[in-house]
Amino acid sequence: MNHRPNSLHMSDIAHSMHPYTNMRLHEEKGPMIMAEGNGARVTDSEGKEYIEGLAGLWSVAVGFSETRLADAAYAQLKRLPYYHSFAHKAHEPSIRLAEKLVEMTPEGLNRVFFTNSGSEANDTVVKMAWFLNNGLGRPEKKKFLSRTKAYHGITIASGSLTGLAGNQKDFDLPAIPVTHLSCPHFWRYGEEGETEAEFTARLLKELEDTIIAEGPETIAAFIGEPVMGAGGVMTPPEGYWPGVVEICHKYDILVVSDEVINGFGRTGARFGCEKYGFTPDILVTSKQLTSSYMPLAAIVVNDKVYNAIADNTAKLGNFGHGFTGTGHPVSCAVGLENLNIIEERDLMGNAKRLEPLFQDGLRAFADHPLIGEIRGVGLIAGLEMADKKTKQPFGKPGTVAAKVVALAAEEGLICRNVYDTVALCPPLIVTEDDIREIHTRLGRALDRALEWAKSEGML
Ligand code: PMP
Repeated sequence: MNHRPNSLHMSDIAHSMHPYTNMRLHEEKGPMIMAEGNGARVTDSEGKEYIEGLAGLWSVAVGFSETRLADAAYAQLKRLPYYHSFAHKAHEPSIRLAEKLVEMTPEGLNRVFFTNSGSEANDTVVKMAWFLNNGLGRPEKKKFLSRTKAYHGITIASGSLTGLAGNQKDFDLPAIPVTHLSCPHFWRYGEEGETEAEFTARLLKELEDTIIAEGPETIAAFIGEPVMGAGGVMTPPEGYWPGVVEICHKYDILVVSDEVINGFGRTGARFGCEKYGFTPDILVTSKQLTSSYMPLAAIVVNDKVYNAIADNTAKLGNFGHGFTGTGHPVSCAVGLENLNIIEERDLMGNAKRLEPLFQDGLRAFADHPLIGEIRGVGLIAGLEMADKKTKQPFGKPGTVAAKVVALAAEEGLICRNVYDTVALCPPLIVTEDDIREIHTRLGRALDRALEWAKSEGML
């Protein structure tokens, strides 16, 4: 992308520090400035239009031009632009949204705590687990179990739960007690001759062995994304999740389903836990909760978790945790309207209906020489750029996936490279035509990337 430098472009280079960016490279290359949105499409400051194949950051369910959300925000800004929920205060939007979330999430999840981001939500989950175990008189029950390649955020605790070197190296993380178990990705980590069922059994044995070795009395919770997202879009092997929950509950270990990406229809089911047949003790949502029009995350907990926390607040006289923006009225008003739209337009059903077209169309690239594995469910997918036999990346890790993503942008499709995987996660409002267009543009990018990789001597 060689965007013509203009004053905005130069100003960005001069003043901004970008997240997830090589800042020195940015000084040379500058930003791609997005100017406006329309449905599943966005237009940059040069006037070039793209299909947003990652829905922003896996998050814009209703597309980029939903005026009902703008109206909901404006109405709330005029009525009561801000209020908090500390010390028994409340306001209608957060009450209504909590009620709605309890109605939408699986049976048994009955209480909601709001934060501003997924990372804050997972930090809050860690603190809830610590707080409740202190309250229950078991102060040693504090460790978390997570998985390699998990993504749970980037704050000190959530960044510790994350299982990706790039989020930890030089940040002195992990900084809380966490054990990362094996990544449940059969294609990459299944052993020679091992069946998927045997792979699941091996991972479940690892889980139970770890719990026994470390002592169940030291482990507070297991956290996982039903479908792993930012670590490379990995769907779980058959039987994995129900097995995890059974083992954790046997040892009184809470199960946290991080549905920041999976929630609200992304996997073709309402929640990822429903897709994979388990009920967590704690469910974390964000992103599609407001379609990211406003920052918001929600933690929904069962009665066991709520009662243990509530009892301790009664003992201490307080729950000493909460953000200025917890349950922000504008975010909650937008969240409520967004969930109403998702339901009224049956966007979760749309994801399920379009799943075969989307997934089969991607799987049609299975023989492409750059592709090692294609995986995904619902409207989320990953295409891993690797040699089919050796499963090794071509050239320097990540290079080919980055090239495909850059070429896809030239072809008018935004997607994202997460390590060697090209990730797709389009808005839930996409149409069949949009999906066909995603396939076409991606196909062109893959072919051009192949020519490039050959010219670089990578294969
Ligand atoms: N959990 C998951 C599963 C995520 O995908 C993300 C963000 N990609 C987070 C937590 C962190 O959310 P945020 O970026 O809002 O802090």
